[in-house]
Amino acid sequence: MAPRYLTKSRFKLGRECPTKLFYTKKKEYPDTNLDDPFLAALAEGGFQVGERAKYYHPGGHDITSLDYEEAEQQTNELLQLENVIIYEPAIRFGNLFIRIDILVKDGNHFELIEVKAKSYDSEGDDPFLTNGGTIRTNWQPYLDDVAFQRHVLEGRFPEAEINSYLMLTDKNAVCPVDGLNQKFRIVRDENNRKGIKVSSTLTNEDLKEWILVKVPVDEHIDLIVKDGSFSDQIEHFADHYARDVKIPSPIGNKCADCEFQCSDEEEASGFKNGFKECWKNKLHWADADFDEPNVLEIWSARNKDLLRGWGATSIPHYYLNK
Ligand code: SF4
Repeated sequence: MAPRYLTKSRFKLGRECPTKLFYTKKKEYPDTNLDDPFLAALAEGGFQVGERAKYYHPGGHDITSLDYEEAEQQTNELLQLENVIIYEPAIRFGNLFIRIDILVKDGNHFELIEVKAKSYDSEGDDPFLTNGGTIRTNWQPYLDDVAFQRHVLEGRFPEAEINSYLMLTDKNAVCPVDGLNQKFRIVRDENNRKGIKVSSTLTNEDLKEWILVKVPVDEHIDLIVKDGSFSDQIEHFADHYARDVKIPSPIGNKCADCEFQCSDEEEASGFKNGFKECWKNKLHWADADFDEPNVLEIWSARNKDLLRGWGATSIPHYYLNK
C-alpha cells in the first residue's frame, strides 16, 4: 500500500476543506474534478511552462520516478553533491512529501523554485500584498504552496539557508519568437504518462528574452507562517491523513463547488456521495431530504440562524439542477 503522505496537492485540498482529505483518491468516492476538461487544460499549460523554466536553469538532473521511495532515494544521492540542480526532486520530512519544481543546491544554500502558469507584472507594485500589508486572496494559494514546500525543506535540512521563489510569466516581456509554445509539445508515452518533446529547432535566440520571471517570496511566506498556526495545520492534516481519519468541517458556501458529489445512478451502483455524508452529519438529514426540488429552501427554513451566520447563498450545483 502506498504511504499516506501529505503532499502539496493534498495540503491544498485540506486548505479548501479539511474533510476532503478523507474522500480524496478513494475509488468509492467519485471526484468530479478528475474528469474536468478545464482543469486538465490548466494543468497541461502549467506543465509546459514548468518545462520551459528548466531551460532557464540548465544542466539539472530530472527525477522522473513516480514511486515515492525510488524518487526520494535518487534525490538523496544527488544531494550528496556539493552543487547540483534537480528538477522534481522528492523531499520527505516525516509524513510530508513534496516534489519541488526546481531545486538549486549550492553548498549549504538552496533555491526552491515553484513554477506557475500565471502572469506577473514585474514593473508594478507588489501584487501579492493588499494596501494593508496582508496577502491578497488571489495569490494566497500560490504562496501557501511555496510556504508548505519551504516548511518541508526546512524540516529536512534544518541547517540550510533557503531562498524561495515563484517563477511566473512576465506580463511586460515580449515573447522573442512566434510560436514558442509549439516548440514545447506535450506528448504521452505508451503508459499514457505526460512528457514534453522539445523541438530540435529551439535556439538560444528563442530563450534570450527572460519571459519567465523569478520572484523572491520569502518575506510573504514569513507573513503566512509567523504565528505558528500554519505549521500546526500542516501537522494536523498530516496526522489525520496518515491515519485515514476524517476531519469534520462546517458546511457552507464552499460546499457549492465540492467535487465529491455523485449522481443517483452512481449511488445506486454502490458509489458514495461525500457531499451527502457531510450534510447528513451536520443537518441530520435523511436521503429523502435531498430529493426535494429546492434543497436550499428546506435548508433555509430549518436552519435560518445557521444560514444567516455564514451568509450562504448557494448549494452544490448538482442539487440545484435536479
Ligand atoms: S461537502 Fe462541504 S464540508 Fe463536505 S467535503 Fe465538500 S466542501 Fe467539505
